[in-house]
Amino acid sequence: MPPRPRPTAAWRYWSRVAFDGPLPLVRGVTGRCHEWTGSRNEQGYGTFWHTRAVKVHRYAYRLAGLPLPAGLDIDHRCRNRACVRPSHLRAVTHRVNLLASTNHVALRAAQTACHRGHPFDAENTIRARNGTRKCRTCKNAAARTARTTTPERQAA
Ligand SMILES: [Zn+2]
Ligand SMILES: [Zn+2]
Repeated sequence: MPPRPRPTAAWRYWSRVAFDGPLPLVRGVTGRCHEWTGSRNEQGYGTFWHTRAVKVHRYAYRLAGLPLPAGLDIDHRCRNRACVRPSHLRAVTHRVNLLASTNHVALRAAQTACHRGHPFDAENTIRARNGTRKCRTCKNAAARTARTTTPERQAA
């Protein structure tokens, strides 16, 4: 019996790509993510063994025949680090990549006060189930306003 041929890198790659990934909610990015189902590193990026461990989205980018100039990062336009769909990837400078990752959630998390300026400290912060924070002072004020403007209350 002849020895079984070793699977090629491209075969190993395609066998671990799921084409029915999530639809990104990013303007200008169309189509579902192609998600890497193989191993991932601590940062959530897919990894792939191709003579050495490589980030799989970089491999995908090169496999698609896209040029990857030295010194450039690959940015996930869909913000899904497991995505390997070439149309969701773009080569950017490191600085652009850092700015892009400062997304809406990160900006909110960095806020230290509500939009009226009340501090988000331990006493004044209500944690919603979805992880967002609400200002207790504003919530109480809104509840008071609702009470005083309820018609039944005014009539009583
Ligand atoms: Zn994607
Ligand atoms: Zn407030």
